[in-house]
Amino acid sequence: MWPDSNNDPVFDMVRREVERQNTTVQLIASENFASPAVLSATGSVLTNKYSEGYPGRRYYGGNMVIDEVESIARERATALFGADHANVQPHSGANANVAAYLAVLEAGDTVLGMSLDHGGHLTHGSPVNISGRTYHFVAYGVTPSDERIDYDQVRDLALEHRPKLIVAGATAYPRIIDPAPFRSIADEVGALFMFDAAHIAGLIAGGKHPNPVPYSDIVTFTTHKTLRGPRGGAILCTQDLAPAIDKALFPGLQGGPLEHVIAAKAVAFGEAATPEFADYAGRIVQNSGALVKGLAEEGFRLVSGGSDNHLLLVDLRAFDDELTGKVAQEVLDRAGITLNKNTVPDDPRSPFVTSGVRIGTPATTTQGMGPAEMGLIATLIGRTLRQRDDDGAVADVRSEVSDLCRRFTPYSLAG
Ligand SMILES: *Cc1c(COP(=O)(O)O)cnc(C)c1O
Repeated sequence: MWPDSNNDPVFDMVRREVERQNTTVQLIASENFASPAVLSATGSVLTNKYSEGYPGRRYYGGNMVIDEVESIARERATALFGADHANVQPHSGANANVAAYLAVLEAGDTVLGMSLDHGGHLTHGSPVNISGRTYHFVAYGVTPSDERIDYDQVRDLALEHRPKLIVAGATAYPRIIDPAPFRSIADEVGALFMFDAAHIAGLIAGGKHPNPVPYSDIVTFTTHKTLRGPRGGAILCTQDLAPAIDKALFPGLQGGPLEHVIAAKAVAFGEAATPEFADYAGRIVQNSGALVKGLAEEGFRLVSGGSDNHLLLVDLRAFDDELTGKVAQEVLDRAGITLNKNTVPDDPRSPFVTSGVRIGTPATTTQGMGPAEMGLIATLIGRTLRQRDDDGAVADVRSEVSDLCRRFTPYSLAG
């Protein structure tokens, strides 16, 4: 029926990627290891189906089973977070945010969002992103003293600029984001409030961070970060906004939904509702604490002094003023430790060079590593960066990393 693709070199690439994930340490804060059940749903024949529209209101026939899949995904998402309404169709977190903006804003409207170089996301008003090109974003940030969100500044800016929407949420912020002060500021100035929980959805689902749903008009999130589902996005909102959100997502932004991914989202929401997942979320935070301690002992400065979530932002300047995030990322890659360069608040270096790295614990926690392994990883990071010009020393770390990963292999080699 189909050409024989079994020998397509792409499958060898997939095999080599499984091997890379199995044999190196994954510390990218936005990554995780999805379960075999999530992978299986993602790789299912649901990819074949066109289902533009929503359950019960489709533009194509044959959606009897698909309607059940999308309905259970929506029911599980609303139950997990206690929301009125869920839209599970966004192809990504970025699409979820764009759809939310499309639902409640007109071009040129003023929006308050977190500054990118203080931890905000591209879709919170970057000039190169559709958000910044379409809407008038005003940025708030962290205080210079404790490097935590400056709620007084948020309020001052809100009173001055009278935004139509206030956006909370971040991509590189190691502390709890309190939705309550945002809600009261939004109420004071008559703004809508949207919480972008892309990074921390799993910590919220696991009960380790405050749930923004009761405080927010809209909550967007990704399903592939701490939530540990397939790559994708979702939107939660009040009943009032549900028609506008659904219309903005489809037909406003997207065409046919990825129902195989929606099936996998449903599986992930099911997994996230278990006591095991709540325990997992707790271990993510515990591992961040262990990594903070280990890295501090190695002489690194942590932005804000530590972490209450799944990520740490390391300012490399105290450790070695010459060392950039770019160089650190490259040499650690050679040692089998995968993380990303990241700006620190008010970074004098460009986003391509940076003075920091971002380190996350969701993936290593999934594979069963605990505080002892976090301590080891901290020493391996310190050693690699101190001896970055010594190829032999980097190779030694690489082999210790292999030994570590052999004890915590996430996937069988079959993939
Ligand atoms: C990751 C992230 C997104 C975007 O998610 P994608 O799936 O990569 O499009 C949006 N907002 C925040 C805060 C994020 O961290």
